[in-house]
Amino acid sequence: MTINKYYILPLLLFCLAFVAACNKQPNEINNTKLTDVTLIVNADIVTMNAHQPTANAMAISDEKIIAIGSEAEVLQLIGDYSQRQDLKGTTIVPGFIETHDHLYMSSTISILTDVSPFSTPTLAQAIEKIKHTKPDNEGWIIAFGADQTLYSEKKGPTRDILDELFPKTPVMVFHLSGHGGFANSIALASAGIDENTPNPAGGFYEKDENGQLTGFLSGQPALFTVKGYPNPSPDTAVTAALMRAKKGVTTSSELGIMNEIVLKGLQEATSSASFPVRVVGGYFSTAPDFEVVVPKLKSYETKFLKIPFIKTWTDGSLQGGTAYLTEGYHAHDFGDGGAQGSQDFFNKQVVDMYERGYWPAIHANGNGAVDVALNAIEYAQTTLADKFDPSIRPQIIHAQMTTEDQIKRMAALNASLTFFTTHVYYWGDLHYEKTLGPKRSERLSAMADAFNYGVHPSMHNDPPVSPIDPLLNMWIAVKRTSKNGRILGKEQAISPQQALASYTINAAYQFGMEKESGSLEVGKLADYVVLDKNPLKVPPDEIRNITVLTTVRGGLTTYSAEYELN
Ligand SMILES: [Zn+2]
Repeated sequence: MTINKYYILPLLLFCLAFVAACNKQPNEINNTKLTDVTLIVNADIVTMNAHQPTANAMAISDEKIIAIGSEAEVLQLIGDYSQRQDLKGTTIVPGFIETHDHLYMSSTISILTDVSPFSTPTLAQAIEKIKHTKPDNEGWIIAFGADQTLYSEKKGPTRDILDELFPKTPVMVFHLSGHGGFANSIALASAGIDENTPNPAGGFYEKDENGQLTGFLSGQPALFTVKGYPNPSPDTAVTAALMRAKKGVTTSSELGIMNEIVLKGLQEATSSASFPVRVVGGYFSTAPDFEVVVPKLKSYETKFLKIPFIKTWTDGSLQGGTAYLTEGYHAHDFGDGGAQGSQDFFNKQVVDMYERGYWPAIHANGNGAVDVALNAIEYAQTTLADKFDPSIRPQIIHAQMTTEDQIKRMAALNASLTFFTTHVYYWGDLHYEKTLGPKRSERLSAMADAFNYGVHPSMHNDPPVSPIDPLLNMWIAVKRTSKNGRILGKEQAISPQQALASYTINAAYQFGMEKESGSLEVGKLADYVVLDKNPLKVPPDEIRNITVLTTVRGGLTTYSAEYELN
């Protein structure tokens, strides 16, 4: 293994800046400038840098990587060090970058009892967890994540079940979709809701065949008459960020910034030097205070918070029946989503983003919606002509159904793609049977095409829609297996190397951070994860079982399995 000129040059420049230090003996360097050098040895390092794919040792100082190569090479370059870490053959990869997250907005959920089908697959298990939940400050028992369609019993925690457990305490179990919930009798009574209460516009209080309330509140207008979500805060953001660090994430995102309260909360949270993750944000194009806030958006940025994006939606969701599919849904009763606005509306919106210097982050699930998004980007390019800024990188979010031609067009428009690949696993069977049918579901998250045409694809979990888990997501992209074991579109499977690129160097590119993170190179940030096994060396089926041992953001340990076990 060699340290080539790419690595020596930045070190030389570093030395030129501190000529006095470089002329001295190594230990003197240590006493002057390189006061805090950590030398990492015996590591199986996957750098994601094409010029030097692997290494065994790395030295970090002042948040950055100052040398990488073999132990002898690194030692020769750094001379001395203040701390030595023996990784005993474990693996280091660049820190994972979650390109579509709701770190802040979903952070309240991280402090609630989690009864999502991802953690409690049966209603019985969910009930067991609710039983052991302590009341909050206001005396309520609150949990999040119930879904009657995903629990194996195909039933939710209805009023009768909750009443039996909690006859005297109000209970609210929020629905996984965020658009409903289950309440017990005390909770309903506290809101003055009984069998005679009329349904609010945009929601309903479910009744059984005898006209009795079941406790299920459908739609936010019905939900919020009983109980609103606890507000996210800088404190809940820390809890959510630690959950991400535990999964190897060093850069997260919040693509749902909807007002100045959220901006202030994010600013406060990320102002702490120990905040566990970097955050990349996007402001809602539909925010009521958009015109007032966007001109001062940059003033909210911190060392760990960057806001390059403005977010818009061209359609809804596949599983919700609101995605815009040019050929419609496979099961005709499932849904019939169109575009959520005219082409003209999106054209103007995207031109406005370019003119303000912001990067368009465009939600588009169905192929119809992807067309609308690409048309709008192309419109901005032709309309703005000389004023069009080609350094702006528009991002298409989700892109569950795309044609090969659309991916070619993205490459031509310099647009990149973040795929919602977890759908193949969690909702793949639903897409096969109902939303897309056997043929189209093979093209769900067409990641292989995206790699072939060089559109820097990344992937995401979109928490809380699916739980944060980059290694599981990589396994899904490689194996393309649904929950029931169906293989969906083997041709779109990618290699473990490409899966890792999606979560590191490609993701960094999409966030405009590729010069500072996404790979392990001299001069880049020391953002990395220690894994018990190398995802490029284990049989692909085992990628999902790899354990995160340590996560490091800018040289700071943000998660340690060892510490957690103690
Ligand atoms: Zn989202």
